[in-house]
Amino acid sequence: MTDAAITGSCLCGGVRFELTELPTAAGYCHCTRCQKRTGTASSAQARVDARTFRLVQGEELVKGWRHPDGGFEKCFCRECGAHLFSRDPEGSPQMSIRMSAFDEDPGVRPMWHTFVDYAASWEPLPDDGLERYPENKARG
Ligand SMILES: [Zn+2]
Ligand SMILES: [Zn+2]
Repeated sequence: MTDAAITGSCLCGGVRFELTELPTAAGYCHCTRCQKRTGTASSAQARVDARTFRLVQGEELVKGWRHPDGGFEKCFCRECGAHLFSRDPEGSPQMSIRMSAFDEDPGVRPMWHTFVDYAASWEPLPDDGLERYPENKARG
Protein backbone atom coordinates (compact mmCIF):
# COMPACT_ATOMS: atom_id res chain seq x y z
CA MET A 1 0.00 0.00 0.00
CA THR A 2 1.25 3.44 -0.80
CA ASP A 3 -0.06 6.92 -0.23
CA ALA A 4 1.93 8.33 -3.13
CA ALA A 5 0.36 11.24 -4.98
CA ILE A 6 2.84 10.84 -7.81
CA THR A 7 5.92 8.79 -8.63
CA GLY A 8 9.16 9.53 -10.42
CA SER A 9 12.18 7.68 -11.78
CA CYS A 10 15.40 7.98 -13.72
CA LEU A 11 16.04 6.88 -17.29
CA CYS A 12 17.31 3.38 -16.46
CA GLY A 13 14.60 2.82 -13.84
CA GLY A 14 17.11 2.07 -11.09
CA VAL A 15 16.03 5.07 -9.02
CA ARG A 16 12.41 5.47 -8.00
CA PHE A 17 10.83 8.04 -5.73
CA GLU A 18 7.41 9.28 -4.75
CA LEU A 19 5.71 12.33 -3.33
CA THR A 20 2.86 12.19 -0.87
CA GLU A 21 1.56 15.54 -2.17
CA LEU A 22 1.43 16.96 -5.68
CA PRO A 23 3.75 19.91 -6.28
CA THR A 24 2.10 23.33 -6.32
CA ALA A 25 4.88 25.49 -7.80
CA ALA A 26 7.34 25.17 -10.64
CA GLY A 27 9.62 27.25 -12.82
CA TYR A 28 12.38 27.31 -15.39
CA CYS A 29 15.93 28.02 -14.29
CA HIS A 30 18.25 29.46 -16.93
CA CYS A 31 21.42 29.65 -14.82
CA THR A 32 24.66 28.43 -16.33
CA ARG A 33 24.86 25.56 -13.83
CA CYS A 34 21.50 24.25 -15.00
CA GLN A 35 22.59 24.61 -18.62
CA LYS A 36 25.71 22.51 -18.05
CA ARG A 37 23.86 20.04 -15.87
CA THR A 38 21.00 19.38 -18.25
CA GLY A 39 22.67 19.93 -21.58
CA THR A 40 19.79 22.25 -22.48
CA ALA A 41 18.94 25.94 -22.24
CA SER A 42 17.03 25.69 -18.99
CA SER A 43 15.82 23.32 -16.31
CA ALA A 44 12.12 22.90 -15.63
CA GLN A 45 11.66 21.99 -12.00
CA ALA A 46 8.95 21.75 -9.39
CA ARG A 47 9.42 23.01 -5.86
CA VAL A 48 8.34 20.63 -3.20
CA ASP A 49 8.54 20.16 0.53
CA ALA A 50 11.24 17.54 1.15
CA ARG A 51 9.04 16.05 3.87
CA THR A 52 6.65 14.85 1.15
CA PHE A 53 9.50 13.11 -0.71
CA ARG A 54 10.45 9.47 -0.34
CA LEU A 55 13.21 7.60 -2.14
CA VAL A 56 11.66 4.21 -2.88
CA GLN A 57 14.47 2.45 -4.71
CA GLY A 58 18.07 2.93 -5.84
CA GLU A 59 19.52 5.05 -3.05
CA GLU A 60 22.95 3.59 -3.88
CA LEU A 61 22.60 4.93 -7.43
CA VAL A 62 21.86 8.50 -6.41
CA LYS A 63 24.93 10.64 -6.76
CA GLY A 64 24.81 14.10 -5.19
CA TRP A 65 27.15 16.77 -6.49
CA ARG A 66 27.69 20.18 -5.00
CA HIS A 67 29.34 23.10 -6.75
CA PRO A 68 32.53 24.19 -4.95
CA ASP A 69 30.94 27.63 -4.56
CA GLY A 70 27.99 26.15 -2.70
CA GLY A 71 24.32 25.85 -3.44
CA PHE A 72 21.97 22.92 -3.41
CA GLU A 73 23.19 19.40 -3.93
CA LYS A 74 22.34 18.23 -7.47
CA CYS A 75 21.26 14.62 -7.46
CA PHE A 76 21.33 12.33 -10.47
CA CYS A 77 21.51 8.62 -11.28
CA ARG A 78 25.11 7.51 -11.49
CA GLU A 79 24.11 4.70 -13.85
CA CYS A 80 22.17 6.55 -16.55
CA GLY A 81 22.98 10.19 -15.76
CA ALA A 82 19.37 11.33 -15.46
CA HIS A 83 18.94 14.40 -13.31
CA LEU A 84 16.38 13.85 -10.59
CA PHE A 85 16.24 16.48 -7.86
CA SER A 86 18.23 18.93 -5.79
CA ARG A 87 18.19 19.35 -2.05
CA ASP A 88 19.59 21.54 0.64
CA PRO A 89 22.70 19.94 2.17
CA GLU A 90 21.89 21.81 5.38
CA GLY A 91 18.70 19.76 5.65
CA SER A 92 16.03 22.41 5.14
CA PRO A 93 12.75 21.12 3.65
CA GLN A 94 13.35 23.00 0.39
CA MET A 95 13.71 20.71 -2.56
CA SER A 96 13.35 20.79 -6.34
CA ILE A 97 12.29 17.92 -8.54
CA ARG A 98 13.17 17.95 -12.23
CA MET A 99 9.90 17.96 -14.11
CA SER A 100 11.12 15.27 -16.52
CA ALA A 101 11.72 12.88 -13.61
CA PHE A 102 8.00 12.51 -12.96
CA ASP A 103 6.39 9.37 -14.36
CA GLU A 104 3.19 11.20 -15.20
CA ASP A 105 1.85 14.73 -15.48
CA PRO A 106 2.51 16.35 -12.10
CA GLY A 107 -0.34 18.80 -12.77
CA VAL A 108 1.64 21.90 -11.95
CA ARG A 109 2.93 24.12 -14.76
CA PRO A 110 6.03 26.34 -14.74
CA MET A 111 5.13 29.81 -13.47
CA TRP A 112 8.39 31.74 -13.84
CA HIS A 113 11.82 32.00 -15.41
CA THR A 114 14.79 32.57 -13.09
CA PHE A 115 18.37 33.68 -13.88
CA VAL A 116 17.25 35.08 -17.23
CA ASP A 117 20.33 37.36 -17.24
CA TYR A 118 22.32 34.19 -17.89
CA ALA A 119 20.01 32.67 -20.49
CA ALA A 120 21.64 30.82 -23.37
CA SER A 121 22.45 33.06 -26.32
CA TRP A 122 21.33 30.37 -28.76
CA GLU A 123 17.76 30.00 -27.47
CA PRO A 124 15.56 33.08 -27.11
CA LEU A 125 13.40 33.27 -23.99
CA PRO A 126 9.88 32.28 -24.96
CA ASP A 127 7.27 35.00 -25.05
CA ASP A 128 5.02 33.05 -22.71
CA GLY A 129 4.00 35.80 -20.31
CA LEU A 130 5.52 34.08 -17.28
CA GLU A 131 7.26 36.08 -14.54
CA ARG A 132 10.95 36.72 -15.22
CA TYR A 133 13.70 37.23 -12.66
CA PRO A 134 17.22 38.42 -13.51
CA GLU A 135 18.65 36.06 -10.91
CA ASN A 136 17.08 34.02 -8.18
CA LYS A 137 13.47 34.30 -7.14
CA ALA A 138 12.82 34.76 -3.45
CA ARG A 139 11.19 31.67 -2.08
CA GLY A 140 7.64 32.36 -1.17
ZN1 LIG B 1 19.19 5.57 -13.83
ZN1 LIG C 1 19.69 26.85 -12.28
